[in-house]
Amino acid sequence: MKLLLTFSRKGRDDPGREPVIARVVKETGVLINVEKANIDSMAGEVLIDVPDGDADLIRRRLEEAGVNVRVMENAVVRDEEECVDCGACISICPQEVFSFDAEWRLCVNAERCVLCGKCIRACPHGALSQQG
Ligand code: SF4
Ligand code: SF4
Repeated sequence: MKLLLTFSRKGRDDPGREPVIARVVKETGVLINVEKANIDSMAGEVLIDVPDGDADLIRRRLEEAGVNVRVMENAVVRDEEECVDCGACISICPQEVFSFDAEWRLCVNAERCVLCGKCIRACPHGALSQQG
């Protein structure tokens, strides 16, 4: 399961200055896969992938450490009314989230998405968006 972590780097309780993820891995023994990280002097946003059965535990531990945690069940969302099954998103996605079925209709495996945003910018019909 993918979890999107966000935190401010202002103030005393600054998860961005602490090895929070490493500490949670060490304390829980759960392996966390970091898929994307944007951290600057003001804030941080990190996308992690954890085993489904451990997601509640990891979420709790991170929240206790001051991290805002959002479960990303469908990271990228397709508006079926707008999509014309052109396939532009298939070639641009580095994670192979998109494919055609036997009838050339678009299939979306959103679990693989790492929120790079390429498909959202590339879709000629504005049919793709990030989970709000
Ligand atoms: S690029 Fe947009 S319109 Fe084309 S198949 Fe993908 S979601 Fe549908
Ligand atoms: S946001 Fe990036 S990884 Fe996610 S579906 Fe779009 S292109 Fe693929």
